[in-house]
Amino acid sequence: MNSMDTIPLNDLTKQHDPLREELDRAIAKLVSTNAFIGGAPVRQFAEAYAEFCDVGHAIPCANGTEALRIAILAVLGPGNGTCEIITVSHTFAATAEAICQAGYRPILVDVDPATHLMDLDEVDAACTDSTIAIVPVHLYGQMVDMNLLKAIARRRGLAIIEDAAQAHGAKFGEFGPGQLSNAASFSFFPGKNLGAWGDAGAIVTNDDDVARCAAQLIDHGRSDKFTHTRIGCNARMDAIQAAVLNIKLSHLGDWNEARREAAGWYGSLLADAQDCVIPTVAPDARHVFHQYVVKVPQRETVRAVMQEAGIATGVHYPIPLHEQPAFGTLGLSPDSLPVTHELCQRILSLPMFPGITRRQVERVAQMLMQAVSATTLMAV
Ligand SMILES: *Cc1c(COP(=O)(O)O)cnc(C)c1O
Repeated sequence: MNSMDTIPLNDLTKQHDPLREELDRAIAKLVSTNAFIGGAPVRQFAEAYAEFCDVGHAIPCANGTEALRIAILAVLGPGNGTCEIITVSHTFAATAEAICQAGYRPILVDVDPATHLMDLDEVDAACTDSTIAIVPVHLYGQMVDMNLLKAIARRRGLAIIEDAAQAHGAKFGEFGPGQLSNAASFSFFPGKNLGAWGDAGAIVTNDDDVARCAAQLIDHGRSDKFTHTRIGCNARMDAIQAAVLNIKLSHLGDWNEARREAAGWYGSLLADAQDCVIPTVAPDARHVFHQYVVKVPQRETVRAVMQEAGIATGVHYPIPLHEQPAFGTLGLSPDSLPVTHELCQRILSLPMFPGITRRQVERVAQMLMQAVSATTLMAV
């Protein structure tokens, strides 16, 4: 197999090559000023990202995990390990890590078998007198139904902090992350829909008090240069990351459209494929396809066949949080969340990035159908 024919899961070169000169110039300029922490690029990004999300405030910070931890602290204050926050098991570990490290107990619920997102009936059923908040995860780029979730939260007097690490530019109905909740957190890990050249993240909110508190927490609890109003930490965004993000942000809308177009190609090519289930998009959702995730039988065999043909695939994620050693103290058996458990054996992420060509998508789809039929035949 010629290496030119290989198709990666993500191809950042496609994003960065056309912008390389502009990006290199911005970084060179920053280096010549020696202003590496805070300053104009970070302020500019805060303003531009708040505008992109159509919210009152964006607080740039060090990464998506800290963004979520600090958003929780800014909304709820630090916990003492007894109050509960409901989230899903089918997510990246950072979601539950942030909850634990803010001092709360994560209560992991199952997901909807079609959308792979938080099952809202399960949320309602999981509420106890100790429940204080809900952390929905807008996995793969599709938002949880925030109107329904908000109705549950309001009825029960709970806060909502959204993990929007995979959902830059996503919408449910008219609203995006941060507009119907107390706060939302984003990651700008390089592979995300908007990625920095290193670690970065942001908190967005319409709540002035939450914004002020979060801005202090990420900068040693400072309310001014020499006054430390609360015990914070150092979770600031680097100026170099902000300089990169300022340039990339203006392309995010186009990049999301390119992802949506590629998802449309996959959808029509795989619509009638045997034993391959394409993603379900809720009618009101504007999915931004951070990942394009299908469900297949014999996933590991299918992956190996695709790999052999030069097509990279991923699994997001193979082991759900309730089956991870780190969360063993939650005492959940694998089949206590049956939908999540089953899903994790079958999900397969296909190559998805802005700039993937129609021909590449066709090759992936064709190879996938071949691999699935070969492996299901073998299994008979
Ligand atoms: C990427 C991601 C995070 C963590 O973001 P980092 O910037 O890597 O810390 C949190 N939650 C989800 C769902 C993610 O995909």
